[in-house]
Amino acid sequence: MIDKLLSQRVQGLESYKPSPSVQGMALDKNEMPWSLDGKVKEMLVEKIKNVDFNRYPDSGCTALKKSISRYTGIDTGSIAVGNGSDELISLLVQTFINPDDIIAVHNPTFSMYKAYGAVCGARISEYDLEENFEMELEEYFNCLNREKPKLVFLCNPNNPTGSCMELKDIERLLEYKEGMVVVDEAYFEFSGITAAGLLSNYDHLIILRTFSKAFGLAGLRVGYMLGSPKVIGYIDRVRSPYNVNSLAQAAAEAALDSIDMVNERVAIVINERDKLYKLLSDIEDITCYRSMSNFIMIRSIHAGKIFRRLQEAGICIRNFSGDRLKDCLRITVGSPEDNMELYKVIKEVCEDV
Ligand code: PMP
Repeated sequence: MIDKLLSQRVQGLESYKPSPSVQGMALDKNEMPWSLDGKVKEMLVEKIKNVDFNRYPDSGCTALKKSISRYTGIDTGSIAVGNGSDELISLLVQTFINPDDIIAVHNPTFSMYKAYGAVCGARISEYDLEENFEMELEEYFNCLNREKPKLVFLCNPNNPTGSCMELKDIERLLEYKEGMVVVDEAYFEFSGITAAGLLSNYDHLIILRTFSKAFGLAGLRVGYMLGSPKVIGYIDRVRSPYNVNSLAQAAAEAALDSIDMVNERVAIVINERDKLYKLLSDIEDITCYRSMSNFIMIRSIHAGKIFRRLQEAGICIRNFSGDRLKDCLRITVGSPEDNMELYKVIKEVCEDV
């Protein structure tokens, strides 16, 4: 009986199945390899001591928005905070999409734009990136003008390829003015490229960021959106009133208060990424894609074997399948020790065959 009650839109959906948490080395979810630094943990404990747990959290995330504003240089009125940037993607879709409206995504990209779009009955217009995963800009621009999507998601740097568009290219796509252009900058701290400076010129531009990656707070679920005060107001109509819990707000503030430590760690990861890229590129039978993020995508005819042998060694990476990503694996950059261990296994597999 219950099956018959299910909305038609949900009937066709599948639940998101993240790879299970592993005992060994998790290099599959683009997380930071280290938990919070001791000093930041102490700062957080101090903040937590002052939290009134019997009270609902601050619905407006007032203190956190002030910290984000100092970090980004964007006014608090242009900031919305979410339970991870995942929630903000969902809120954007709920705010702008009627059934049968179009959402444009490039392919491959982060899967949740499509997934949340499907929940709201959106039609998805997918634009295939080139063979090397770059975008043929004018072609995509024409495609937008033809299809007239209400929401355009640009993942920059792109997950899972690691490629990053230049600002001038984003600005070109912003000339499409019949829909909102959302630039997902979840990995901004690793690329250093942001469209935030364009916000004052384009009120149909929205930027998404997260504390889950560079800030190492994936376990607490905090993301934020930068957009025109009008857009932030619309999002506020849809979001649940207490969407970001008190601990998460306190932790995100503590992380921003210790930005020097965050920057140091980001620098280590970038250095490790570039080292790992060189090492993997030198292995025969592996194509390594340049990444501006904290992960590297590789393609190899031995992908299945590499994945299995890493699993046996207690190292979990992301295995893709399907046309565009056939034989592709995404490797999160870990600590220097993690990366060496991973490299040795991959080299061994490729030399064995
Ligand atoms: N955007 C991109 C491109 C991502 O890769 C992720 C997480 N993997 C997210 C958004 C969601 O991040 P979170 O919900 O943890 O903020």
